[in-house]
Amino acid sequence: MTKSVADRTWHERARELSFATQAFINGRFVDARSGARFDSINPATGRVLCQVSAGDAADIDAAVVAARSVFNEGSWANMAPKNRKRILQRFAESIFKHREELALLETLDMGKPISDSLKVDVPAAANCIQWYAESIDKIYGEVAPTGPSALATITREPMGVVGAIVPWNFPLVMAAWKIGPVLAAGNSLVLKPSEKSPLTAIRVAQLAVESGIPEGVFNVVPGLGQTAGQALSSHMDVDAIAFTGSTATGKRVMQAAAQSNMKRVSLECGGKSPNIVMDDYPDLDRAAAAAAYGIFFNQGEMCSAGSRLIVHERIKDVLLEKIAAIGAKMQPGDPLDPTTRLGAIVDEAQMQRVLEYIGAGKSEGARIYAGGERKLIHSGGYFIEPTVFDAVRPAMRIANEEIFGPVLATITFRDAADAVAIANNVVYGLAAAVWTRDINNAHRTARALRAGTVYVNCYDADDITVPFGGFKQSGIGRDKSLHAFDKYTELKTTWIDLS
Ligand code: NDP
Repeated sequence: MTKSVADRTWHERARELSFATQAFINGRFVDARSGARFDSINPATGRVLCQVSAGDAADIDAAVVAARSVFNEGSWANMAPKNRKRILQRFAESIFKHREELALLETLDMGKPISDSLKVDVPAAANCIQWYAESIDKIYGEVAPTGPSALATITREPMGVVGAIVPWNFPLVMAAWKIGPVLAAGNSLVLKPSEKSPLTAIRVAQLAVESGIPEGVFNVVPGLGQTAGQALSSHMDVDAIAFTGSTATGKRVMQAAAQSNMKRVSLECGGKSPNIVMDDYPDLDRAAAAAAYGIFFNQGEMCSAGSRLIVHERIKDVLLEKIAAIGAKMQPGDPLDPTTRLGAIVDEAQMQRVLEYIGAGKSEGARIYAGGERKLIHSGGYFIEPTVFDAVRPAMRIANEEIFGPVLATITFRDAADAVAIANNVVYGLAAAVWTRDINNAHRTARALRAGTVYVNCYDADDITVPFGGFKQSGIGRDKSLHAFDKYTELKTTWIDLS
């Protein structure tokens, strides 16, 4: 008897899955002009999943030419907003309809648990596109309060061709945060996914065209950062570049933009976010659960991870015990098992990087409170257990540098002013949290924390309606919410003389 779709395990479904592995340019799948391909590795097994076209400058150029041509011709940019809205809504629905396939691609490609891909990533991506679709015909321009002899309107126009470069930790969601507002505003897009996780981006570009987005509006060029990414950020006919990734690469993108055509640059970069727990906070079970989730979710591969636990010395022991107990229940497992809560680290290099930081923490004198080891070595995959460091001092590397793995650094404080000083004393400013029952303390601390998002009595709460991005070297500009349109539209003043 053949099993129904629902009865098949994710492993069985994975065996039947086909992969779109070429670049998607002007509505068609094409090989890289050089013919080059790179291996996409399944991080849960260390084995090659498929080979993907390795686009370079020539392919980026072809995609930009296609994007420019359709932009100039106006079939998308000048479409009536309500029609553009309907097409984008269809696109969002199509993403949701293909959720099982997309979730499987995401998990096989980058190692996150299938339950998260299915219940978090794919719905979040579809919701993001849907939200921006709905916004299109609800945004108005302005009339300036000039004198009676003039009428001055202020309108928003699409910028033209936008390049987007995204990382591998939330491949589909990070892409959707760009795709939604870029396309809603009427731009054309050339997207370069990370070489470590290109598969969902390629597939959704195909879904976009099937949903009615004109050919050439949404192009995807997989390839390496130093070739395809560099070519996109230094292209002379790209009007804006939207980047998510590390701070070091963000600086390179900025440089490339400056040295080429001064394209507008927005950057969502790294973080080393502080999670401050005051000793008056009454519910330490809740604080522990949020702290554990804030650093172990997605294997800790989160820009906004609460990677520094800054806790009052009086409650430190109790809190760490609770966090470690949660970590013990989140041992890494097969990402295709629906009960797995912690998957594989994206590749061997990233795993080695995390292990190297664990080694650095020990050698600088921090104490391993829980975890600290590679796991499931027999699988051939890259797994690290939830790790908690105690006795971390603010000057240590593990207290300053982004590890991007399931590693928590615990630092203690005695008074609130110390906590804020420690929290702010890093080059990043993406997110921060404070736990307290004192409303004045909550407001005072939230105001003093230098971060794009401050959580009070929660961690990593999220909604598409609020902007997301960083202070300091965590970036420039904001994803999500209507503020994202600032990155992808030009403001135009039209002054009409009435005298
Ligand atoms: P990287 O900076 O290594 O890569 C990000 C993207 O840039 C990838 O597509 C990469 O391609 C590309 N790239 C690499 N070199 C260049 C170059 N010279 N020019 C143009 N593009 C290039 O980051 P990771 O992929 O390792 O992602 C992890 C980082 O992303 C973390 O630092 C994390 O904090 C940050 N991040 C920030 C978020 C935010 O919203 N603030 C959200 C998610 C992640 P390739 O992979 O093919 O080399």
